Amino acid sequence: MYQKFGISNQVIELANKAEQSVQEQFKKIDQLCEINSLKVLNAFQKYHVSDMHFNSTTGYGYSDIGRDTIEKIFAEVLQTEDSLVRGQFISGTHALTVALFAFLRPNDIFLSISGKPYDTLDEVIGIVDNPSSLKSYGVKYEQIDMINNDFDYKKIEERVAKNDIKLIEIQRSRGYSLRESITLDKIEKVIQAIRKVNQSVIIMVDNCYGEMVNLIEPSQIGVDVIVGSLIKNLGGGIAPNGAYIAGKKELVQLAAERLTAPGLGKEVGPTLGINKSILQGLYFAPHVVASSLKTAIFASKLLEDLGYEANPTYHQERTDVVQTITFGDRDKLIRFCQGIQMGSPIDSDAIPEPWDMPGYTDQVIMAAGAFTQGSSIELSCDAPIRKPYMAFLQGGLTYEYGKLGVMKATQRLIEGY
Ligand SMILES: *Cc1c(COP(=O)(O)O)cnc(C)c1O
Repeated sequence: MYQKFGISNQVIELANKAEQSVQEQFKKIDQLCEINSLKVLNAFQKYHVSDMHFNSTTGYGYSDIGRDTIEKIFAEVLQTEDSLVRGQFISGTHALTVALFAFLRPNDIFLSISGKPYDTLDEVIGIVDNPSSLKSYGVKYEQIDMINNDFDYKKIEERVAKNDIKLIEIQRSRGYSLRESITLDKIEKVIQAIRKVNQSVIIMVDNCYGEMVNLIEPSQIGVDVIVGSLIKNLGGGIAPNGAYIAGKKELVQLAAERLTAPGLGKEVGPTLGINKSILQGLYFAPHVVASSLKTAIFASKLLEDLGYEANPTYHQERTDVVQTITFGDRDKLIRFCQGIQMGSPIDSDAIPEPWDMPGYTDQVIMAAGAFTQGSSIELSCDAPIRKPYMAFLQGGLTYEYGKLGVMKATQRLIEGY
C-alpha cells in the first residue's frame, strides 16, 4: 500500500522512528482534546442545541435563532461576553479589518507590540499604500518589535503609560515572520504590565491558529477581544467559510455595526444554510486541532532527524498549530511544499509553484489540496520565497492523513538529492 502511494522503505522507517519518539507528547494532546471537547459539549447543552438551530434564513436574516445560538456558544467556549460569528466574514483578514475599522477613529493610535502584523494587514494598516487603508482615514500606526522571542516589556510599558493609545494588537501566531509564536504565559505577563499603567487601552489578539491549542484562550487572561478564522481551528474543517470576533459586549457590538451597518448590528445577517456546518465544525474542532498538533509534532521530529531546523521542536510547548521547517534552500522548500500537495486528497496531481498573491509582498508558494478553498486547518504548507526558505506547515483533519502527507513530502524532498 505504501509503495502504491510512492513511499519508500527509508521514509517508512524514518516515520516509525519519529512516531515512537513523540508518544509522550501525543498523550498530553489527547488530554487537551478531552478537556476542550468537554467545554464544547457543555456549551451545546447549556444553550439546548436542537434541530431547529440547523434551520436557515435568507434576505435580511432577521430572527435567525441558529445564528444567535451559535454566537452564544462561541462566547461560552471562548469565555467572552459576546461573539460575532458570521459567514459574511470572507476570511480572518476581513474580520481583523472589520475589528480595526470598528474600534479606531481618525487620529487614534494603533500599536502593535508583536512586531509587524500578518502580511495581509500591510495594506489594511497602510504600511503598504492603499487609498482605503486605516492610514488614509488618519489612524496612526506604531510598532514595537519583539526581542529574543519575547515582548519588549520595558518599551511597551513606557509607551502605553502616556495614555494616548487606543488599541494594542498582539498576534499570537508567528504569521510568516521569523519570530516564534507567542505563548499565553507571555501574553498574560505583558497584559499585566500594560494594565499597571493603562486601564483603558483596548487589547486585541489575532488568535488565528491558536484556538484550542491550550486549555484556555487569550480572552481568559485579560484580552478584551479576539479574532480568528473559521477555515482554521474553530471551523473544525467543516465550516464552509467565515470568521469570528469575540470579547467585551460593547466591542462586539461596534464590530457588528461595522460589518453590517450602524443601527443594524447583530440583528441582520442571513445564514444561508451554514448553521449546521458551523455547529458541527465547532463540535469537531477539539479533535481536529489535536490532529493538527500531532501532525506538526510528527513532522517536527521527522524533519529534525533529517537535519533540518524545526520550530517548535517536538517537545516544546505549543501555542498554535503552525510548524516551521527551515530548508535554507529554495529548491528543497519548493519540493517539500509540492510533496504536501501530492499527499492531499484534492488536486493531488497539481504541482504548486511560487506566485504573486494578492496581499503578500514576496512571491508565495501554497500547497493545499483541501476540500474548502484555502482552508489551512486541512493539511497545508506555504512559504514566502525568501531567505531562510522556511516552510509553514499546518493542519491535518486527522492525524493519519496528516502523517501520510508529511511522509509524501519527505519522500519528494529526499528524492531530489
Ligand atoms: C491566517 C492568518 C490571518 C488571516 O488570514 P486569512 O487567510 O485572511 O484568513 C491573520 N493572522 C494570522 C496570524 C494568520 O495565521
